[in-house]
Amino acid sequence: MLLSDDRDLGGLAGSGDGHKLAIHSRLSKDGHRKTASKDGHPRTGEFSLTGKLAYKIDIVVIGGGQAGLSAAYHLRQAGLTGGKGFLVLDKSPTPGGAWQFRWPSLTMKTINRLHDLPGMGFAEVLDAGQTEVRAAEAVPAYFSAYETHFQLPVYRPVTVRLVCGRGERLRIETDHESFSARGIINCTGTWDAPQIPYYPGRELFQGRQMHTRDYRDANEFAGKRVVIVGAGISALQFLDEISRVAQVIWVTRRPPEFRDAAFTPEDGRAAVARVEQRVRAGLVPGSVVSVTGIPRSPAINAMEARGVLNRQPMFSEITPTGIRWPDGHEAQVDVILWATGFRSALDHLAPLQLREDNGGIIMAGRLATRVVRDPRVHLVGYGPSASTIGANRAGGAAARELMDYLNLHPAAMPATSKQE
Ligand SMILES: Cc1cc2nc3c(=O)[nH]c(=O)nc-3n(C[C@H](O)[C@H](O)[C@H](O)COP(=O)(O)OP(=O)(O)OC[C@H]3O[C@@H](n4cnc5c(N)ncnc54)[C@H](O)[C@@H]3O)c2cc1C
Repeated sequence: MLLSDDRDLGGLAGSGDGHKLAIHSRLSKDGHRKTASKDGHPRTGEFSLTGKLAYKIDIVVIGGGQAGLSAAYHLRQAGLTGGKGFLVLDKSPTPGGAWQFRWPSLTMKTINRLHDLPGMGFAEVLDAGQTEVRAAEAVPAYFSAYETHFQLPVYRPVTVRLVCGRGERLRIETDHESFSARGIINCTGTWDAPQIPYYPGRELFQGRQMHTRDYRDANEFAGKRVVIVGAGISALQFLDEISRVAQVIWVTRRPPEFRDAAFTPEDGRAAVARVEQRVRAGLVPGSVVSVTGIPRSPAINAMEARGVLNRQPMFSEITPTGIRWPDGHEAQVDVILWATGFRSALDHLAPLQLREDNGGIIMAGRLATRVVRDPRVHLVGYGPSASTIGANRAGGAAARELMDYLNLHPAAMPATSKQE
């Protein structure tokens, strides 16, 4: 059924084969069909709609990381059909969310902890004892198996460029087709929104400036003078690795907060509660990890013993060849590595005007995933759900609340596995 500028999606359905998504479109009456190409990426151009046409779907999930897969799992379990009922749009080339882009030395041992996706644990797919394996390989393998097992309709690589209101529906414009949805669950994470604070002189620096997301390997810094900026877990890992091959200065705005005591589930809940309070009040969230402090691991103790944990206060200016502190003293450096975190990647939602004047978004709902200004929009992986465990739970809450709001009540699927 074609309605004004919206095209009914009929039986658009994922093969469930993750990045080899094949879309079996009932649009074949138009002679258009889309299948996966040999390299596993969906072929485009065969049925891309141009102009104002948009495929109609009830709920579009934007982003196919932990948050998006959790939301998709719960939508599927609640009985929505892949394709017409819901679809996941993911700009990454393969399953794995942002994990596929993380640097090689980030292993399953050095990450904080990966919480299982709902319904199928990591250990059901991969040998969880292999902690030396790269996170950038293990997590994508797990997510890929997960997408296949639950036949999740993930359509990639598709970048959502913008979402805007169209009366009762939301229009989702991508670098391929456009979609028209009754609601969206936005799960775009933070990886695409690196945060680099401004310091005077930044544009004059003649050396290399890079951010956490550009880091690959310490060896590229061999023999160089590097300043690492940041007090988080990533900054400390870089400090550990780079200090072995290069001359390093470590600067932070505030002294890092090391935790000697083990991090308990109560601590976790308290940290999440603080961030949740902030977003319910419409404040900019701050990351969950930033309020948990850094556990004093054997690696950190070893760094201390090596004399590497030698933190200096933040510089106030960048010169063409280095950095300068407020008292005027300078250091010459070749590289500035900004391990200064990320913000939520929400720019594509700008036309919806969800933000308050202070830049925050007022959130409501059971796990604070619903945007008060537009209840058709849920954000998962934002604020209190910006962790693998948070994204998991919030995916379920968002799916249920949005379906209720839209009065979508298909017969629930028989449970394939435990619900979370
Ligand atoms: C270095 C690092 C280490 C971390 N370690 C841990 C840890 O050990 N434990 C933990 O719990 N948390 C950790 N986190 C936080 C953790 O990554 C997240 O909480 C969780 O994995 C994020 O899942 P997500 O689905 O919200 O985002 P992502 O994994 O970032 O997935 C978002 C997806 O959305 C897609 N996307 C983005 N924009 C668009 C768009 N416009 N259109 C279409 N698709 C889009 C992206 O391509 C990506 O596939 C870490 C974060 C970082 C940066």
